[in-house]
Amino acid sequence: MRDTITRIIEEVHERYAGTMDGSLADYIPELTLADPTHFGITLVTADGSHYTAGDVDVPFTIQSVSKAFTYGMALDEWGAAAVEQRVGVEPSGEAFNSISLDPGTGRPRNPMINAGAIAVTGMLPDSAEDPRFERILATFSRFAARDLDWDKEVYASESATGFRNRAIANLLRSFDMLDGPTDPVVEDYFRQCSIQVTCTDLAIMASTLAHGGVNPVTGDRVLTLGHVEKVLSVMATCGMYDYSGTWVYEVGLPAKSGVGGGVLGVLPGQFGVALFSPLLDEKFNTVRGVAGFRDLSRAFDLHLLRAPSMSKHAIRRNYRLSDVSSRRGRPDEDLELLAELGQRVLVLELQGDLFAGSLERVIRALATDADDVEVVVLDVRRAGATDGSTVGLLRGLAEDIAAAGQRLVVTDPAGVLPSDTFVDLDVDTARTLDDAMRRCEDALLVGAGRAPAGSVRLELAEFELVRHLSDHEQARLVPRVDERTFAAGEIIIEQGADADALYLLGSGVAEVEFADPLDGSVERIADLYPGVVIGELGLLGQSRRSATVRATTDVVCFELTRPELMRLRSSDHLLYTRIIEHLLVSTAERLRRANREASLLRD
Ligand code: GLN
Repeated sequence: MRDTITRIIEEVHERYAGTMDGSLADYIPELTLADPTHFGITLVTADGSHYTAGDVDVPFTIQSVSKAFTYGMALDEWGAAAVEQRVGVEPSGEAFNSISLDPGTGRPRNPMINAGAIAVTGMLPDSAEDPRFERILATFSRFAARDLDWDKEVYASESATGFRNRAIANLLRSFDMLDGPTDPVVEDYFRQCSIQVTCTDLAIMASTLAHGGVNPVTGDRVLTLGHVEKVLSVMATCGMYDYSGTWVYEVGLPAKSGVGGGVLGVLPGQFGVALFSPLLDEKFNTVRGVAGFRDLSRAFDLHLLRAPSMSKHAIRRNYRLSDVSSRRGRPDEDLELLAELGQRVLVLELQGDLFAGSLERVIRALATDADDVEVVVLDVRRAGATDGSTVGLLRGLAEDIAAAGQRLVVTDPAGVLPSDTFVDLDVDTARTLDDAMRRCEDALLVGAGRAPAGSVRLELAEFELVRHLSDHEQARLVPRVDERTFAAGEIIIEQGADADALYLLGSGVAEVEFADPLDGSVERIADLYPGVVIGELGLLGQSRRSATVRATTDVVCFELTRPELMRLRSSDHLLYTRIIEHLLVSTAERLRRANREASLLRD
């Protein structure tokens, strides 16, 4: 099946493939040999998938697209402050080869015009052991995920005619914006411009910038993360020379073009895109490239300044522990208590990226709707990326929660948040959301005077099922119930077996496991604690066991078998009815609760 992305790219390709507007760059004679019909489009995602149309494997010279990458190299070599001494970041609004230097200092306006790019190349160290151009070629190769070569003819052609660039270099030298002899710098600049790439190479180079400086194909970090945004900034404001303003307005991406016909654009975090077609407009940008980019930007909604409205979805679910329980099986009385006390615990399940716009929703929800809450559980398991604001905002949130006398519990099993997010703050963490909910429930119950879960040992007479019977009825029931022990690990009831008894869990902990009949996978779905009734549904429904219950620790149960129950039905119908009635009421209450949960948790 042809995929939709490729189809859209092919449509754009088809739309402009016949356009013969523009002309080949002829001030570098060798460039007039290019085939004006060549036209390619490649899109590479920030995780390395390729989509292509047209002449994406035809080699051409990178020319000015190189300027973005040597600028990145200089930033990594010297740091931003040092580089700023020699090249500014202001758009010149002039042609690429303008002699655009600051009148006072002689500093070139930006690194995307020739003056700035030559100054940048001059900043890259050059020595006999570590020749500058070899390092440039090697670094570009890492950006492109393959060994690149350079076009000696194009280089020789530009070197033979590049008087203007030599003049620019000499002017830079006179302002001390270049050190030492200017010729080696200009020659290396010409060589760097003549590095051969394909459309797909450029798209991979762009996707490396989109991927925060790490090549998505090789996993190689080629540029420091903090410098990626600096390179992209000057690309956004200066990358298309004196067309940059219109470009940002219409296409809305940081981009860089070259007179070889290549242009690349970067949508940070998502795509690198490159177009190649050697016919240029009067501003020396590729005609088909600019037109195609405009259409792709519209089709894929690439404009950087069109902010996505994901912030409203930051809270996936928002509920109190009174409405949704953990997966701990608890006696009815405890559940009734929790249906009230659970109001004091607010659970917020987050989703999507955690940035200022999305976290504001969380902060607002807490500020307006949580005054009566004692504990806030923040579940970030489904959250996506964090940015530079996330830690500061979450720390602020934690401090404000503490100042309000509330507790914060965070569950982050996948490590979405940096590990030091809450360091030195009074914040609890839990392994999973269910753990957090259990802990909160346990604390609420203990606070209400209930024995800590799992620690009790109940006698038969203490179960609600028995307590609600009269003394006479109790006396008649007790002889029919057997006390049974199960060692840790032993199965109490088995999935698929006939339901032949119900059990009252007197002491110890048991767990419920469900084996998926389709794939055989086993999921632990609940823990059971003393006071719960086990296996009543199967018994009432006269069906097979729907799950396995296994003793986690040594367990004591009170067992009422189906034959005993049947005997009661014929010999003591009143007692039988009382028992069934109680089981039914309890089941109905659990079902009501399950329905409420299901409606709250529905996506
Ligand atoms: N090598 C070319 C030059 O310096 C690069 C110009 C460009 O691609 N815009 O003139």
